Amino acid sequence: MEDRTDTEPVLLSKHAKNLLRFLNLLPARMASHDNTRSTIVFFAVCGLDVLNSLHLVPPQLRQDIIDWIYGGLVVPRDNEKNCGGFMGCRAMVPKTEDAEILECMRNYQWGHLAMTYTSLAVLVTLGDDLSRLDRKSIVDGVAAVQKPEGSFSACIDGSEDDMRFVYCAATICYMLDYWGDVNKETMFQFITRSLRYDYGFSQELEGEAHGGTTFCALAALHLSGQLHRLDATTVERMKRWLIFRQMDGFQGRPNKPVDTCYSFWIGASLCILDGFELTDYARNREFILSTQDKLIGGFAKWPQATPDPFHTYLGLCGLAFTGEPGLSPVNPSLNMSMAAYAHLQHLHEQWRSADGRGDEDISHNDGKPHKARGES
Ligand SMILES: [Zn+2]
Repeated sequence: MEDRTDTEPVLLSKHAKNLLRFLNLLPARMASHDNTRSTIVFFAVCGLDVLNSLHLVPPQLRQDIIDWIYGGLVVPRDNEKNCGGFMGCRAMVPKTEDAEILECMRNYQWGHLAMTYTSLAVLVTLGDDLSRLDRKSIVDGVAAVQKPEGSFSACIDGSEDDMRFVYCAATICYMLDYWGDVNKETMFQFITRSLRYDYGFSQELEGEAHGGTTFCALAALHLSGQLHRLDATTVERMKRWLIFRQMDGFQGRPNKPVDTCYSFWIGASLCILDGFELTDYARNREFILSTQDKLIGGFAKWPQATPDPFHTYLGLCGLAFTGEPGLSPVNPSLNMSMAAYAHLQHLHEQWRSADGRGDEDISHNDGKPHKARGES
């Protein structure tokens, strides 16, 4: 007989152990993800944080992770294009003193928005003070990949451009408390033009509304202080689209199967719009727990599927929104714990007082999420 999932526990220590493992090695079956290794570090570190288990990362490993992240930082020289930001892996950073080789590899080093976002989030979550960063060169790199219509591509060398990178751009600027030459107005225009007839957002203009994209769009509006520009009717219709994505867990699009990660993408979107309490917490939990691996920990996208760090982290966040005991509250827009967010706010205060800026820009939007259950 199957366990009753309403009383089934979240296997906190197994999930922590599972995520810790990814900080020490990358399994062979995931070798193809090596070029986005910082995202795996993000899921593991932020997941341990949501599990209140960061103390399991020994001090030396914690420092090694911070140093490894900084090892991927690209700072452009005066004569170079705006390639500032973080790389996702170290394949282009050879371990050599040979100046010629180092100079040659330099041509292949540039920041990538998703890797920059996750690298910064890891640093903040581990309590780093970001003092080794030149915030301006990173935001110059973000502005350099913005398209005239407001969207962003991932890197200066060219890539697809869509809502994922709009979100990454917004989180980077928000975390660095600096928007520089990023054009928030065209960004707003791009986001609102991607709103579809059913009130979900699509990845690019004229696409199909999608749960992940809708999260990226709403979080970017929130972080850039532009959420209030949506009128009340539009917001209500968005909530309707989002709420209708719940079957037991959440699906990303109509007529698609439910998947653990949408408990985050849809759940966080509803938290941003102050509508999460309209969902059925028990059925959501029941689905997420049906994807829990009871043997090795971790969550998978579907029951009986193989768990992975992505679905493990997002499953934990989805549960955190429902106030699951043992889990830290999560900031839905930034996709990190409220404790990490508090550390970030502290850094912003320090930077602002050093710049003599006081609290000038905080008033219109402090990026503070709307409440999910479990927060006071
Ligand atoms: Zn998924």
